Amino acid sequence: MTRHFNFCSGPAMLPTAVLERAQHEMLDYQSKGLSVMEMSHRSSDFMAIAERAEADLRELLAVPDNYSVLFMQGGATMQFAGVPLNLLGKGGTGNYLDTGIWSQKAIREAEHLGGAHVAASASDNRYTAAPSPSELSLSANAAYLHYCENETIGGLQMDYTPEVEVPLVCDMSSSILSKPIDISRYGVIYAGAQKNIGPAGIVIVIVRNDLLEQACPEAPTLLKWKAFADNGSMLNTPATYAWYLSGLVFDWLKAQGGVEAMAQVNARKASKLYGAIDASSFYSNPIAPANRSQMNVPFVLADESLNSVFLEKAEVAGLLNLKGHRSVGGMRASIYNAMPEAGVDHLIDFMRDFEQRHG
Ligand code: PMP
Repeated sequence: MTRHFNFCSGPAMLPTAVLERAQHEMLDYQSKGLSVMEMSHRSSDFMAIAERAEADLRELLAVPDNYSVLFMQGGATMQFAGVPLNLLGKGGTGNYLDTGIWSQKAIREAEHLGGAHVAASASDNRYTAAPSPSELSLSANAAYLHYCENETIGGLQMDYTPEVEVPLVCDMSSSILSKPIDISRYGVIYAGAQKNIGPAGIVIVIVRNDLLEQACPEAPTLLKWKAFADNGSMLNTPATYAWYLSGLVFDWLKAQGGVEAMAQVNARKASKLYGAIDASSFYSNPIAPANRSQMNVPFVLADESLNSVFLEKAEVAGLLNLKGHRSVGGMRASIYNAMPEAGVDHLIDFMRDFEQRHG
């Protein structure tokens, strides 16, 4: 068996130890004689798995008691609609920070569902730096301010948490669990699972309980946060296996020393990789240093005609999925929690060697 270093932006690499445990428990979960996949979501065995996963996530992120943690489906994209549908029932307009493609998708969805006001945009600098706090201009009737903490495609990460009078709503799909966060500064945080949480199929929503009372009446039941909060996220059949695997990831994270320990390793991995890019004129990254993503590192080759040979050789070297998003081109190395530091070292060695041969 060979496991390569997988730099995919999502679904992303999972810790080998987690997959091994899932493999070990696959046919016969803890001598119960069946797989987790085959369990009723209402069974006491699955309820215990679900409750443990939630408790571990709460512990990892120090989620205060006045917040609900929801395990929903439909991905982060469904929450682009979920945010306005759950927060605009008492009127007002969704306010948005535009820092890239994922912000824009959230904005477009809100435009269909009550309107969106762009409070600041990074379009002026072609999405290479986050708007500064002083550029934020909320509308008079703002119901919330939404932003994307880490733009997975552009590789732009926020270097501050906006301070506003209205609830702060954050898409943390590609940065949750990579570092400590102060949940109490947020009204709502949501994140698709398939990067730092577990396999695809789950989106986690962390919502302050007082915000559960302002959903639009026409919101579909399966998008209503309150309905999920009131029913332990078991309004209908949840994504049971993805929930279980997410729980195994949380367990693994706790064994690694939690998000504080991950933050240190993540900072080291990112700084090595950006250091290697900056030290060469063969590779480049356009993002302002303060906003460079610690999770998704896009880079281009000075000679784009070498892109396909770079990708081919990388794959042979056991470095998978380095192709950049079609809208950006070039390469992108996604280095979430499960990417070992050795994977980043291996990538840097490969990049140096490739430059020597082709530079
Ligand atoms: N937001 C961000 C920041 C993302 O990176 C992604 C997926 N790459 C999404 C939203 C959409 O997530 P999903 O595919 O789970 O709907």
